[in-house]
Amino acid sequence: MDALKAAGNEAVRQGNYTSAIDLYTQALSSIDKNMVDDLAALHSNCSFAHLKLGQHPEALDQANKCVSVKPDWSKGHFRCGEAYFALQDYAAAAESYEKALSLSPDDQTIKRRLSLTQEAIEGFYFRQLLPGRDFCLTPSDIIERQIFSSARQMQNFIYLVGDAKTREAVVIDAAWDVKGIKAFAAQDSIKLVGAVVTHYHFDHTGGTPPPPFDAFGIKVPGVRELAVEDSVPVYVNKFDAEIIKQSNNVPAASIVEIEDSATISVGSVKLHFIHTPGHTPGSQCILVPRPSQDILLSGDTLFIGSCGRLDLPDCDVKAMYTSLQKKLASLPDNTRVYPGHDYGGPYTTIADERRKGFLRPVSERDWLLQHKM
Ligand SMILES: [Zn+2]
Repeated sequence: MDALKAAGNEAVRQGNYTSAIDLYTQALSSIDKNMVDDLAALHSNCSFAHLKLGQHPEALDQANKCVSVKPDWSKGHFRCGEAYFALQDYAAAAESYEKALSLSPDDQTIKRRLSLTQEAIEGFYFRQLLPGRDFCLTPSDIIERQIFSSARQMQNFIYLVGDAKTREAVVIDAAWDVKGIKAFAAQDSIKLVGAVVTHYHFDHTGGTPPPPFDAFGIKVPGVRELAVEDSVPVYVNKFDAEIIKQSNNVPAASIVEIEDSATISVGSVKLHFIHTPGHTPGSQCILVPRPSQDILLSGDTLFIGSCGRLDLPDCDVKAMYTSLQKKLASLPDNTRVYPGHDYGGPYTTIADERRKGFLRPVSERDWLLQHKM
């Protein structure tokens, strides 16, 4: 039995889950039924291998067998939780994780999975990612080291927004480290189903950076990799679409051109696009209605206490005035604003920006005088 179990564990290490299940099943058929610890471990490992193969009912069956032979072992309940989670039965998953946690109160993995489950019951998935903290962590070569270090300097926020029940999310402004962003999502059992772009600048989309970042012919990974490797659609405002196709080489078939006021759904979560030209012709903000407090992803249009740069070649000071004063300033006071860079904190509100930021009431004439180039 020990040899079969060891061979099964080795097969798991190599990612050969079908062989592992075969070996564990053989071990289970020959085991002395009084060897409770071994019996439970085999059912637990078998459950894990089924889960890896996407065989969720089989994973649950093995987890239940594990619990029935050794009810006071935290691991069996954890395996039940994992299987229920994969089956999207979050109430049952929460019950299993709670039982597991009561037997292993300090286990951080169980705590993390339980909190993901509680979030799934509520239904909304939202994450704000920062380079150096959540991605761009361990460069694999000298080029990646250069890219990660630029990302940390530029402090781009990247967002994952979606449905915590169906485990689907879109990534907003995917750039710098697509592998790292995907790993973050996978850790949360989230499938990325789309890439939303707030505007075409390379630090929000990847592609060829402007000087001096273009030294050594470096290309920054971004929405192109998601479109090509994962076949996800790329949602970009129609006025920035052409430049993204060119500078990023995103296949035209992957681009979904977005108009002002368009809406997309990610499971039960809705994303409303607001065209906010000024920083670029196709800059757009994304409004996500929530029961208590709407969320606005403001890209480089609105920052805490400022707005995006207006001194670049295709910026438009007058258009920015309209975007800020006529569109964003009229959103509800308590709307929580998440910007495209960490320039002094993770978020602000429409009320705060109207009081002391760039949504302060100002005449168009004064605005144009203040921002005369
Ligand atoms: Zn920008």
